[in-house]
Amino acid sequence: MAEDGIDGRDQRREDGGGPLGSATALRSDRCGTLTAADIDRQVTLCGWVARRREHGEKLAFVDLRDHTGVVQCVIRTGPWTVDQRDDSDDGQFSEAPDVRTEFVIRVAGTVRRRRQGTTNPDLATGEVEIVDCTVEVLSTAETSPFPIDERGPATDETLRLKHRYVDLRRDRMQRNLRLRARVNSAIRGAMADQGFLEVETPMLMASTPEGARDFLVPSRLRPGSFYALPQSPQLFKQLSMVGGIDRYYQIARCMRDEDLRADRQLEFTQLDAEMSFGSQEDVLQAIGYAVRAAASAAGHDLGEIERLTWQQAQERFGSDKPDVRFGMELIELTPLFAATGFNAFKAPSVKAIAVAGGASLGRGRTDALTDLAKSFGAKGLAWLKRSAADGALEGPILKFLSEEERVGLPGEAGDLLLFVADERPLVNKVLGLLRLELGRPPVNEGGLHAVWVVDFPLFDGIDDAGRPMSAHHPFTMPHEADLDGMEDHPLKVHSQAYDLVLNGWELGSGSVRIHRRDIQQRVFRMLGIGLAEAEQKFGFLLDAFRYGAPPHAGFAFGIDRLVALLAGEENIREVIAFPKTQSGTDPLTGAPAPVAARDLELYGLRPLPPPT
Ligand code: ASP
Repeated sequence: MAEDGIDGRDQRREDGGGPLGSATALRSDRCGTLTAADIDRQVTLCGWVARRREHGEKLAFVDLRDHTGVVQCVIRTGPWTVDQRDDSDDGQFSEAPDVRTEFVIRVAGTVRRRRQGTTNPDLATGEVEIVDCTVEVLSTAETSPFPIDERGPATDETLRLKHRYVDLRRDRMQRNLRLRARVNSAIRGAMADQGFLEVETPMLMASTPEGARDFLVPSRLRPGSFYALPQSPQLFKQLSMVGGIDRYYQIARCMRDEDLRADRQLEFTQLDAEMSFGSQEDVLQAIGYAVRAAASAAGHDLGEIERLTWQQAQERFGSDKPDVRFGMELIELTPLFAATGFNAFKAPSVKAIAVAGGASLGRGRTDALTDLAKSFGAKGLAWLKRSAADGALEGPILKFLSEEERVGLPGEAGDLLLFVADERPLVNKVLGLLRLELGRPPVNEGGLHAVWVVDFPLFDGIDDAGRPMSAHHPFTMPHEADLDGMEDHPLKVHSQAYDLVLNGWELGSGSVRIHRRDIQQRVFRMLGIGLAEAEQKFGFLLDAFRYGAPPHAGFAFGIDRLVALLAGEENIREVIAFPKTQSGTDPLTGAPAPVAARDLELYGLRPLPPPT
């Protein structure tokens, strides 16, 4: 299979088996790859001093580290004696170089089997060491701002980011970035396999509507005018379909000025794709193939990707990004309580979740869950427990329930039942969030479970001016069947939009696009985007549609998120070489930084006086 081919090739490249191998002018081998098969070979290695341990008066064990790992070198630390003199030394006696932690050195020596009892089974190179070493210091180093050895206490993240070049030497970062490169390469291979063409789109452009704020770049040549950085290449990939590219992809950088979270950065990378003459099904197949190839490059088999409609996802998991690694699905109880005498359950919807083993939770915890449910918007949270011994129901609300209601309740011995009664969307949302709070496994547990969520609504609410709001972006095609009279019941219109969800993270989204000018204009009108505004903002796209636009559909998924999940990292910053902090700053370069007033004038800008 192509995916295996891609993997195998990348692995060989990482092992130095590519056409250029791993030897360079300064080294013959890499530190972490030496094994018993290399015994008696003369090697030259380059790297950083990871650790130094004294061994008697004149010898030290130096662990030499490069990106492949560590090897032990036995290095002379005292003065050379006559017979150990280096011939190139012009007969002078030389001192052994001073070798300290994080110095960059070059070591030439012989690979030897370690003496019995000194082998280290935890180390890939643990059977061997380098002896008879000649050492050259290539670069000295001041004391590191934090220990590179990850076995110590966790280092503050701002300090790590300030000295990211030191942090990148750590195993974890090396592993993550190499995994990321493999994933990118697998994605490229998978897209090329399917006939997608890699096309670069501009970074300096007009605004793209993805629902976030734009980053603006002032133009020096047109003072007072601005470029926007792309929130995505959405408009250009659609234009490239009109341009007959047929299948486009790009590993694209996107910039969105929005609030940051653990799974969000101001700039991020996504696989962006678009195809002509294709249906939703074609896109799901093509993207599924690429995601499976990416997972397989990381050693995971993603298997078939399950499908849920948006409605099913809401009803069963209370979320449009369901984490299907665990059960605890929402249980429908509305019919059971249709004629209830219990006031709190007299509501349009009543649903529950059953928390296995939750009957042992104390009053403090159930009170805390009630507060949490309220913070999610619920009026309250009702609960019952099933005794661990015989499953009998217990709890303060039991006395309000009829015999029939009690008999109809779900759950097993030892469960805690949590109930929410309200309008349906709120019930789903609150129980969905409680489900995550109580059941969600850590990111690196429970395997990888991807789901396609399909049939999203076209609009996900009505704004203060009474206008529907796009659930995706305004170029998303409604279901053909919902086109008739869609203006009269906007919230009932389904769209041909779909999301890919992995372990409860929204990995990406896409849609079949509107390629007809008349439908596009109807949707703009519903969104309150008038003809003049549409013309001003997206006139070029609407114009393009006049000149023969093929039906097209596309998708984009976040590579930072995907790699984080494949690497088992909670935070995408761990898989980005030079990320920004949670507050959008870069402690390494000091960005963002003020600009001198005279420089701003070049762009026709003048700073406002500071707020008083
Ligand atoms: N442009 C969308 C995004 O970046 C994806 C798509 O609809 O293709 O989220």
